[in-house]
Amino acid sequence: MGQEKQSYLFPTFARYPIHLVKGEGSRLWDDKGKEYIDLMSGIAVTNLGHVPAKVKDKVIAQLEELWHCSNLFHVPHQEKLAELLTENSCMDAAFFCSTGAEANEAAIKIARRYAQEVMKTDRYEIITFYQSFHGRTLATLTATGQEKVQIGFKPLMPGFAYAKYNDLESVKALINDRTCAIMLEMVQGEGGVLPADPAFIEGVAKLCEENGLLLIADEIQTGMGRTGKLFAYEHYNVEPDVITLAKGLGSGLPVGAMLGKAKLIPAFTAGSHGSTFSGLPTIMAAGIATMETMLEEQLPARAAELGDYTVQLLEEKLAGNPLVAGIRGKGLLIGIELKQSAAELVNAIHEAGVLVITAGPNVIRLAPALTISKEELTEGLNILCSILAAH
Ligand code: PLP
Repeated sequence: MGQEKQSYLFPTFARYPIHLVKGEGSRLWDDKGKEYIDLMSGIAVTNLGHVPAKVKDKVIAQLEELWHCSNLFHVPHQEKLAELLTENSCMDAAFFCSTGAEANEAAIKIARRYAQEVMKTDRYEIITFYQSFHGRTLATLTATGQEKVQIGFKPLMPGFAYAKYNDLESVKALINDRTCAIMLEMVQGEGGVLPADPAFIEGVAKLCEENGLLLIADEIQTGMGRTGKLFAYEHYNVEPDVITLAKGLGSGLPVGAMLGKAKLIPAFTAGSHGSTFSGLPTIMAAGIATMETMLEEQLPARAAELGDYTVQLLEEKLAGNPLVAGIRGKGLLIGIELKQSAAELVNAIHEAGVLVITAGPNVIRLAPALTISKEELTEGLNILCSILAAH
């Protein structure tokens, strides 16, 4: 208390005792000059590594030209990023915003509006899942199937119902004549790095088709190459109606997107949704350069390859470790489930010079940059395994 410097911030984040001041590729440095290997990418954000040259150059060039113009005018950068995203997915149109929660707000709003204004029904309910995470605005924290993010914010938003992940029967039981959509993550990230079973995702898609529901894929954490495909839905034999993106889309600058199928276009008419900072030229430049780099350097395939390598290395090095309950993931989104709380071990790993984070109470989450060199990855994983072996 006495010695601690007073903070002028609301204490909404439980922060690690590290003050990062510089990043380059998969290396970070703190204010004391200590170097870290980054295996978390700011929670799956800096998928191209820190300060990626092509993104930096495009953003700086755009900063010299024009920072802001209202969405009352055309912004060609939005068209370009929308083209890149839709031409490389099963989607047809994009709405841009600044955060993941905003992208999910747009998804929730378009699902309701499509049901009510286009399909002329009175449907509004969205089925989401326990252990999911969809954001911290009122609608998205209600969509989130975790009580801990809802405490103290009642009344919650009406119109959400929670099913059990990977349990098709629990989804079926919730569908009724008010349901308009099912919203899910292909891998539950914050919930503990829990990948969906293919039969479950395909079953949910079939239920959507049979009942006239929209399938909303929250790819805020799993998108942008993270799981070994550009978008995680590509691992499954399904086409969502809506995809939400943020995190990796701007390489660390605030770019969010809600992508939708053509049938949804009439639902978002002029004036029905928007934001002052929707699709600013500068952040669109970051999104365009990120997408171009992702495609040119075939980074999703690299994530798949390095992900397999990581799981194999961890399985070998952690075999028989009494702390470890299991290793799982997709591409470079990997969880090491422990038989105890992960927080203390994560601090010890940080002290040893490797940055990782938790997912749920007892999972260590790894989300290295898709551009990390095999040597850096191996070095980071070896340090992590040595800490787990020593505890
Ligand atoms: N959805 C998922 C799957 C996420 O992982 C997150 C953030 O962790 C969000 C939504 C919310 O994104 P944001 O923090 O940018 O609002």
